Amino acid sequence: MSINKFMKVAIDEARQGIHANHGGPFGSVIVKDGIIIGKGHNRVLINHDPTHHGEISAIRDACSKLKTHDLSGCEIYTTGEPCPMCLCACMWANIKKVYYGCTIDDNSKIGFRDSRFDKLLGGRENIKDYLVCIDRDACLELFDEYNHLKDHQVY
Ligand SMILES: [Zn+2]
Repeated sequence: MSINKFMKVAIDEARQGIHANHGGPFGSVIVKDGIIIGKGHNRVLINHDPTHHGEISAIRDACSKLKTHDLSGCEIYTTGEPCPMCLCACMWANIKKVYYGCTIDDNSKIGFRDSRFDKLLGGRENIKDYLVCIDRDACLELFDEYNHLKDHQVY
């Protein structure tokens, strides 16, 4: 299976997080001009922070490295379709494109509540060009791995 090289890094990032019990199987990488400038994974459990999703973690890392709040010209690769909070965070950061692996429905299948919040807030159909699904099968393998971890948590 040929996987996008940036998505592969996002999956590896997520995998490190789940085996360290930091949080769910969500890793993200931010790329500018073909170079990775930030990455992160879900740290909700380890940081006791419900907002510390993978995308937020990667945005913070990239902004800190570039010393800016503006990620214009950047793309994000993330293992799961962004929740409404992260989707807005990507827009606030001026990220130009979101590449995601698993869908919101896939997130639901392993127990996360993204679908509930997305139904409540909606509007995703208006930004279809902004969100591009790639490498879903590889990300589903990651989700499956998480699902089979002993003591894994959903929140
Ligand atoms: Zn999120």
